[in-house]
Amino acid sequence: MIAAAVRIDVLSIFPSYFDGLTLSLLGKAQDAGILDLNVRDLRDWTYDRHRTVDDTPYGGGAGMVMKPEPWGVALDELATASERPTIIFPSPAGEVFTQATARDLATREHLIFGCGRYEGIDERVFEYADTVGEVRLISLGDYVLNGGEVATMAMIEAIGRLIPGVVGNPESLVEESHEDGLLEYPSYTKPSMWRDRAVPDVLLSGNHAAIATWRREQQLERTARRRPDLLSEQDD
Ligand code: SAM
Repeated sequence: MIAAAVRIDVLSIFPSYFDGLTLSLLGKAQDAGILDLNVRDLRDWTYDRHRTVDDTPYGGGAGMVMKPEPWGVALDELATASERPTIIFPSPAGEVFTQATARDLATREHLIFGCGRYEGIDERVFEYADTVGEVRLISLGDYVLNGGEVATMAMIEAIGRLIPGVVGNPESLVEESHEDGLLEYPSYTKPSMWRDRAVPDVLLSGNHAAIATWRREQQLERTARRRPDLLSEQDD
């Protein structure tokens, strides 16, 4: 059964960044009507000759700030498409995006992403957006990007593949890194010997119980080695 379409609107001054989202699984999901992705140019909601979206910061300081007016009219229009959309502003000052965030957002019927540029967006836009939807400020990690577009693409890809029907075999989602708080076990394919490197014997044994045990051990070992913080989160 095909799930009802999840609507995702994106507001950006560089909409062509998102052309790549029509490729691969998310493109197929759009063709199949599972995902309704609309990327809009924020400048379509400017009303001056220069289609201005930024201005100098009050109080001084370097750089420019995105003006509130285009955001206000754009959000007014897009928010009417559902009862109470979830409005996500990518921000290095937001909560950190995780697989759990992706799982949560994949259950929503309407997401709006607002991509900041320059020094960011006038703070009042976040307050206003909270009156027309549920606002989330979400960071991709503790570093600063030039704009919200790349962060939004990463989030849409992580969320999109969790929407029922997007990934052909849902079982492939269950065993992935971060789904159970651990990193995924190592994967191998043919040939069984490549440049003097053999595939572990257990994977060729046909013994499913032994394979499951080996994979679990590998998950625990590599999580302890690469991401011990994930194991301590499980203990909390
Ligand atoms: N002045 C802002 C600050 O210090 O928090 C940074 C502005 S950044 C140059 C421009 C835009 O990039 C932000 O408004 C946000 O949309 C996006 N951005 C930058 N880093 C990000 C991150 N780690 N996660 C999500 N979005 C990010």
